[in-house]
Amino acid sequence: MELIKLGERTFCADGPFKVGVYILKEADGYSEVCIIDTGVDEAAAREIDEALVKAGFRVSLILNTHYHADHSGGNRYFIEKYGCKAYSQKINAAMISNYDICPSVVWGGNPVKEVLNNYFYAPPCEAYDISELEMPEGLSIIEIPGHCIEMFAVKTADEVYFLGDGVVSVDTLKGHKLIYVYDIDKQLESLELMKGLKGKVFVPYHGGITEDISKLAEANISVMKENIELILDICTTPKCLDDIISEVFDRYGYKLTMYKYAVEGGVIRAYVTYLYNKGELVAVKEDNYIRWKKA
Ligand SMILES: [Zn+2]
Repeated sequence: MELIKLGERTFCADGPFKVGVYILKEADGYSEVCIIDTGVDEAAAREIDEALVKAGFRVSLILNTHYHADHSGGNRYFIEKYGCKAYSQKINAAMISNYDICPSVVWGGNPVKEVLNNYFYAPPCEAYDISELEMPEGLSIIEIPGHCIEMFAVKTADEVYFLGDGVVSVDTLKGHKLIYVYDIDKQLESLELMKGLKGKVFVPYHGGITEDISKLAEANISVMKENIELILDICTTPKCLDDIISEVFDRYGYKLTMYKYAVEGGVIRAYVTYLYNKGELVAVKEDNYIRWKKA
């Protein structure tokens, strides 16, 4: 794995995940760094760490943009090696400290076994509420909830933004329109906020580093609007949730698996929630079914 230099004190460990690295201070023979997210598991953390060691970096702080295990699965490795602490927002910190809750949030109850993968489950390890942290000089966070109940982006003194899962690359959007979103309303608001961010480089965790955040945020908004229109169109006649899931998959040409039913089915449910709460879908109760119909 290589470290890409994005600014005087800002780097990105450029592997399957784009882990942010920011020099906090120079010490005797090494640099103390903060890392933003930690990879999916111990093996990923070791690879990131190899690149850090080669550059003369030692980790003294972890910021987790949100609780998903692909962002915090490497925490334990870094904490054990460097004795550092991990911080995230309150709910995220609680989730990272108690991973059993995460797959249940995705499924909406006691989860099917397919969700217990390393995107949603990691061995728990303690994380702390970021409100207890005196933010190091040069770093600030910007709240961008929606993908999760809470999430933040991190801005460094070099005007580099690490955006977590706030946006995904245009290439990802091409083959995968049902990007994981927990709260559609908040995600649309956060994308509008991201569209207006001023900075030099913007780093989504899953790739697509860009200097033009406005264009990338707009592409994400446009796919979400396409999903909204599709669901409203499907619900021209009353449909129960499983019918909507099936029809969305058919129309996009995707193949349903139990994992996709759990995760992307949950995303479709989030769109239905959004449209129902806004009054654009009504719930028709009949024969012990709830069917959703365009208002
Ligand atoms: Zn995520």
